[in-house]
Amino acid sequence: MIISALFDDLGADGAPRRLGIMGGTFDPIHLGHLACAEQARETFGLDAVIFIPTGMPVFKLDRAITAAQDRLAMVQLAIRSNPFFDVSSLEIDREGCTYTIDTIRALRDHYPDNVELFFITGADALSTILRWRDCDDIGRLSRLIAISRPGFSFDDSLKAELDARGVYRVDYLETARFSISSSEVRERVAQGKSIRYLVISEVRNYILEHGLYKPAQDEELQGTSQAGFQDDPLGKAFYKARHKDLKDRVGKKRLKHIEGVAQTARDLALIYGVDPAKASLAGLLHDWDKGYSGEQMQERVQELGLDELIDPRLVRSMPQVFHGQTAAAALAREYPSIPIDVLQAIARHTTGAIPMSDLDMVIYIADALEPGRTYGTIDDLRAMVGKVDLEELFYQTYRYWVILLLEQAKTMHPDTIEVYNFYAARHGARKAAERD
Ligand code: NAP
Repeated sequence: MIISALFDDLGADGAPRRLGIMGGTFDPIHLGHLACAEQARETFGLDAVIFIPTGMPVFKLDRAITAAQDRLAMVQLAIRSNPFFDVSSLEIDREGCTYTIDTIRALRDHYPDNVELFFITGADALSTILRWRDCDDIGRLSRLIAISRPGFSFDDSLKAELDARGVYRVDYLETARFSISSSEVRERVAQGKSIRYLVISEVRNYILEHGLYKPAQDEELQGTSQAGFQDDPLGKAFYKARHKDLKDRVGKKRLKHIEGVAQTARDLALIYGVDPAKASLAGLLHDWDKGYSGEQMQERVQELGLDELIDPRLVRSMPQVFHGQTAAAALAREYPSIPIDVLQAIARHTTGAIPMSDLDMVIYIADALEPGRTYGTIDDLRAMVGKVDLEELFYQTYRYWVILLLEQAKTMHPDTIEVYNFYAARHGARKAAERD
């Protein structure tokens, strides 16, 4: 197996060598990553650094990840002028979720024992290491370098826990060179601002030529760069195809509910100035994972890599509450061109979030008010549609739902209380302002 075109023979002469492995999503790679890798190389006397962009990290729900081939191409462009750097497509070529332990094991198998491995990554990424698959083996097989921006402090209790396990050797590299972030680069491109001097010029050209990180409405440019999926996810053909899929995924009654939610979401979107195509699609897909049993949901959480994000006790005690999150993760993996705000609304339709976008609220409300729902005084809420603003309608719907859960003695996800408190306080403030 070829890991790195330049450094595959490292250590073949039997001399002690040190190899840095720079792991990250690199969406996109920026000057901060490059400067940190160089600083790590000097500080720890590394003979070489191999950048390994992650495959599709499906556990990332906050946004869609740019196609792996684009991220890899940008890393290739960024590192080629440094003779100590190379890039490997090891994780991108591997199928399924990206787990660091698989990479470390592959490298350990490939290189002789005289090559010491140093896994370098962001300190905030590393702060979740105890939830990574076979994390202690990562510690046994490699040293870790945690890079942090000034002001980020690695949790002392985590440091203590890592020490206590006796298998981790972690070095902390706080550096002002890492003041740039990939999200800043993406946001600037989306806003049409300059990214000169944040990424190297070849990467900047690549981003502009391939139309990466453009805002969602610029679909024409974006569609072709996303994982090769050509259909317009907001078009009729995609909608029809997913509707057909749902017939195999859920029962007839559930499908009727789903159709009701999609229609209600569209109606609400038109009333409240939200994109109706996105609302219909999110409504259609919100219960994509509702056909799984509790046990299957637990497996699905794991298979999608969400177990790193969700408290395992909650997954065991209320697996069904995570069907929105698993649906969003699974759909993101299968159809990377679905807009991220649609995925977010799907992920949030069960417990809500702070704060909710307009589309999030539309889907949450549509799920509660679609015509098939008949319980309690739901018609009072229906009567408010179009008469109160969207946030008030969401608050009243959420409140109604919380009361219903209490009345039926059902368990509640802990986030529900926080979301309720947040919107109740805002509701109170609005009422007070109206009185003044
Ligand atoms: P992330 O959540 O995208 O990044 C978290 C933070 O770390 C961000 O501030 C990011 O800055 C920074 N960062 C990421 N890579 C960095 C690097 N090489 N050097 C300096 N800062 C870096 O994290 P990620 O990219 O997904 O994951 C980082 C690494 O951890 C990857 O290799 C990933 O495969 C591994 N990981 C493994 C597991 C597992 O095995 N179960 C789970 C999570 C992560 P930017 O946004 O500016 O890059």
